[in-house]
Amino acid sequence: MADIGAVSRAPVYSADELQALSDAFEKKPAQAVLAWALERFHPRFALSSSFGAEDVAVIDMLWRLNPKARVVTLDTLRLPKETYEVIERIQDKYGIQVEVYRPQPQAVAEMVSQHGLNLMYESIDKRKLCCHIRKVEPLERALVGLDAWAAGLRRQQASTRTDVKKIELDPARPDKIKINPIADWTWEQVWAYIREHQVPYNALHDKNYPSIGCDPCTRPVRPGEDPRAGRWWWELDPTQKECGLHVAEPPPSLTPAAKT
Ligand code: SF4
Repeated sequence: MADIGAVSRAPVYSADELQALSDAFEKKPAQAVLAWALERFHPRFALSSSFGAEDVAVIDMLWRLNPKARVVTLDTLRLPKETYEVIERIQDKYGIQVEVYRPQPQAVAEMVSQHGLNLMYESIDKRKLCCHIRKVEPLERALVGLDAWAAGLRRQQASTRTDVKKIELDPARPDKIKINPIADWTWEQVWAYIREHQVPYNALHDKNYPSIGCDPCTRPVRPGEDPRAGRWWWELDPTQKECGLHVAEPPPSLTPAAKT
């Protein structure tokens, strides 16, 4: 892990300047915005990767620009085995060490003790508590000391992502800049890149999983279904289908040990 100190610096760009930068990069290749971010912020810049198709394409681009580019991931301890496998394959191919963040054991133990291991199926509040403990809190630790971070978000992925900009103030963390280098890409562009550059990818993509999260919260989609229909499929409101990593959300209404 890079020695960057723990304190994030305030953004050196105003929201208007970031909007202008984002506009300027809108018609440029994804590599251009990544090169800018690496030049401007490395090593206080990292990709947060869940190792879906979008993320592995961005890892390949980053590695070609700077083999020391940083990649962090959140191991919720409930990932499918195929995700752990692709992490290994990516590390082997590129010779990189992915920085892994896991949930706090005590918080997980209290949550499971009070609500059970599969609390996510019982209510949106319980699902968001699980996402907070297993994903959001570890991401907050992963971002300590960073000025900017990247994600593989695309506008076409979900109704919650149609306004994603290539460069923006992090909506959930206004002291950081968020880079979305492939915001304008289509699903077909992602796969064309993966095939052209022979990027290792999650084997679940070949089994009708366009979007891959934790094992208990992801299922394959049927023909014609929305690409994110397999995420938290038992929840019917598409505006709720975020885990808090990419949107500003209030803290969960439940605590790990709250009685309900
Ligand atoms: S996706 Fe599911 S298992 Fe993973 S953190 Fe969220 S609720 Fe928990």
